Amino acid sequence: SVPLTFFGGIGGASRRGILIKGGNYMDVLARCSTVVFDKTGTLTKGVFAVDAVHPDRMDANELLHLAAHVERFSTHPIAAALRQAYPDEHDNCRVEDIEEVAGYGVQAMINGHRVCVGNEKMMHKVGAEVHSCVKCQGHVGTVVHVAVDGSYAGHVVISDQVKPDAREAVASLKRLGVQRTVMLTGDHEQVGMFVADTLGLDEYHAGLLPADKVEHVERLLREKPAGTSLAFVGDGINDAPVLARADVGIAMGALGSDAAIEAADVVLMDDKPSKIAVAIRVARHTLRIAR
Ligand code: ADP
Ligand code: MG
Repeated sequence: SVPLTFFGGIGGASRRGILIKGGNYMDVLARCSTVVFDKTGTLTKGVFAVDAVHPDRMDANELLHLAAHVERFSTHPIAAALRQAYPDEHDNCRVEDIEEVAGYGVQAMINGHRVCVGNEKMMHKVGAEVHSCVKCQGHVGTVVHVAVDGSYAGHVVISDQVKPDAREAVASLKRLGVQRTVMLTGDHEQVGMFVADTLGLDEYHAGLLPADKVEHVERLLREKPAGTSLAFVGDGINDAPVLARADVGIAMGALGSDAAIEAADVVLMDDKPSKIAVAIRVARHTLRIAR
């Protein structure tokens, strides 16, 4: 049976905006040695703005038009930014066969042409050669490439911002004795390095597919000290499988997807990564009382 104070702990946590789905996670949280983060929507706001449009063989407006229409139904934060940048949805173009590929991007038929929007891996998949861009040099941003009928058509540079409490979130985990803080991202190396450096994370891995994230979590589970636990924190867009694999899966509740909230063991109602340290402190306090 579960001691009553466990429920007291859950109540105390929920008053702090932390939903813990069961007393057993108190123990898991208290023993946490490794915290693994997703980037977009977890450590960063997940709200991208368009910084630059670099078309290759059309005008900038036409490139944005194609990107916005391909992204019509995607729930990815990148899609929202591209739709925002081309708000004119009333033009009568024909969009068919939309297919979203997690960790790559989206493709669709637009007025009979196959248009692909995504990262370099996506371009590689459809045989489009990414042209290097002098205008992008030294710019830290997420680059969204576009190909039309298998040939390169240009890219849109977008950027996100780290959450205001993300740096403190990492520092407070260190103060609680968490040994290893890791970020896993599908975004490219440059962005991964910038965010990891800014936040003082121990480790980061970029350019990952959803399946690669699962593999990293499995490795980190093997490497954690005996008797300790691993937490994964995500917003659930493309990361529900990793949330389920961790000893404790923590999801962002406000921006996060329903699937993530469902798959998670702990939900942070206000999306603040600094609440992870709060959850660990509440758990340790509750266990001290319970024992
Ligand atoms: P993260 O690890 O940053 O949360 P995801 O796994 O969700 O990222 O996506 C990884 C990468 O896949 C993105 O950085 C982007 O390059 C590409 N991608 C995923 N979904 C989309 C989309 N809807 N449109 C364009 N690119 C996408
Ligand atoms: Mg994600």
